[in-house]
Amino acid sequence: MTHPAQPKASHFINGEYVEDTAGTPIPVIYAATGEQIATVHAATPAIVEQALSTAKAAQKAWARMTGTERGRILRRAADIMRERNHDLSVLETYDTGKPLQETLVADATSGADALEYFGGLAASLTGEHIPLGEDWVYTKREALGLCVGIGAWNYPTQIACWKGAPALACGNAMVFKPSETTPLCALKVAEILIEAGAPAGVFNVVQGMGEVGGALVTDPRVDKVSLTGSVPTGKKVYAAAAEGMKHVTMELGGKSPLIIFDDADIDNAVGGAINGNFYSSGQVCSNGTRVFVQKGIKEKFLARLAERTGNAILGDPMDEATSFGPMVTENQMNIVLGYIEKGKEEGARLICGGKRADMDGYFIEPTVFADVTDDMTIAREEIFGPVMSVLDFDTEEEVVARANDTEFGLSAGVFTKDFTRAHRVIGNLEAGSCFINSYNDAPVEAPFGGVKASGVGRENSKEAIKHFSQVKSVYVRMGDVEAAF
Ligand code: NDP
Repeated sequence: MTHPAQPKASHFINGEYVEDTAGTPIPVIYAATGEQIATVHAATPAIVEQALSTAKAAQKAWARMTGTERGRILRRAADIMRERNHDLSVLETYDTGKPLQETLVADATSGADALEYFGGLAASLTGEHIPLGEDWVYTKREALGLCVGIGAWNYPTQIACWKGAPALACGNAMVFKPSETTPLCALKVAEILIEAGAPAGVFNVVQGMGEVGGALVTDPRVDKVSLTGSVPTGKKVYAAAAEGMKHVTMELGGKSPLIIFDDADIDNAVGGAINGNFYSSGQVCSNGTRVFVQKGIKEKFLARLAERTGNAILGDPMDEATSFGPMVTENQMNIVLGYIEKGKEEGARLICGGKRADMDGYFIEPTVFADVTDDMTIAREEIFGPVMSVLDFDTEEEVVARANDTEFGLSAGVFTKDFTRAHRVIGNLEAGSCFINSYNDAPVEAPFGGVKASGVGRENSKEAIKHFSQVKSVYVRMGDVEAAF
């Protein structure tokens, strides 16, 4: 019998499901059991062509609609997503293995927020009037044209919406390629947009591995590429986009610092460290995986952290009591287990976890290492799994320098009751998305993105509009034209 997660077809182009079984089969594995639940096919060159030509053809008429009309469609799509939140969350759990406890509140809901927010902004995208004596200049905020979105596997619904909603609000069309690991959810976003009234072709989904992404990025008809992925992929995609002088948004990886001062509320700090390391089993780009704890509270912090981490409930992700799910794939599990071994070999002190959980599926126990030093592999490389490194520090000056000593710059957090210090420290940290006495909040109203190798551009908020539109300026002369001859 067909599993309920099996989509009608692999791709969604021009308002309908499209199949081409000549493409390489991509098995969809449920991470909690290892069972294959669906199959899709990678896009063939014919499918890529169909998606790009359809999107290109649909874009101009979409951009000519008023912002109010486009916004209404996006907001209707948000309403449909909220009505179907439960079904979409179950599907996201099948796609990623993340517990339903999380997917019910953090994926389709976050996607719906983006559709609603950018739907609301669509009508307000105006230009300026710049008076110059009798003459004047006016500016228009115009769509870029055809945008490509490429997603990572950790938030497949959210990523499709974080890219699709601002792109469409600005009058662009999009071809979105999900990660081959999680191909299911973006198809639902495309389906819902059509149901909400979006013209066929403005949001299309094609499946595939890196080469399909590569074909999309290098196509001369594409005006912009927005990628969520790792730094190495980001460098390749950025370079390919530069070849065609395309706009880019790069949301890449991190190794973010979370700094906890002696005066912090310990339980809040522990909560921040848990949210910043173990949510989605650690598969979150902005995670605060280098937890710097001031020496005075170190042992107290570690004791409370170990105690609360022991309360994590590993189990069937469809059971809403489960609070900690598996790694997305067997491969990702093995990568993370490799880092755990490195941590042990290089002399970090294991506080809890440290191994694969004794159960079906790709579960790793939430793991905390203490006495981690800056040069250890687990303190330098992005792990993308439930592995927290706790490092000690003495002074503010020292911790800021050490926190910044990384190629990454996605996020940073500080816990302290001294607000002057909190703002000073955040001001000195090289990171794009920061938190004071909190960690990993990502409301659609706030800009999200990194500095240094963690990326360029911002998603969400009004900032995202700038990255999905361009300004045309028009000089208007009222008098005669003077010329030298
Ligand atoms: P990858 O970088 O491996 O892949 C990201 C996407 O790019 C996938 O859809 C992938 O396809 C595609 N891709 C790979 N190679 C190319 C290429 N040459 N040209 C075009 N597209 C290509 O990342 P993961 O999927 O493994 O996701 C984990 C990474 O994403 C982590 O490093 C994490 O930090 C980062 N991330 C960043 C976020 C942010 O907002 N800053 C949020 C979430 C994750 P396929 O996988 O199908 O081969």
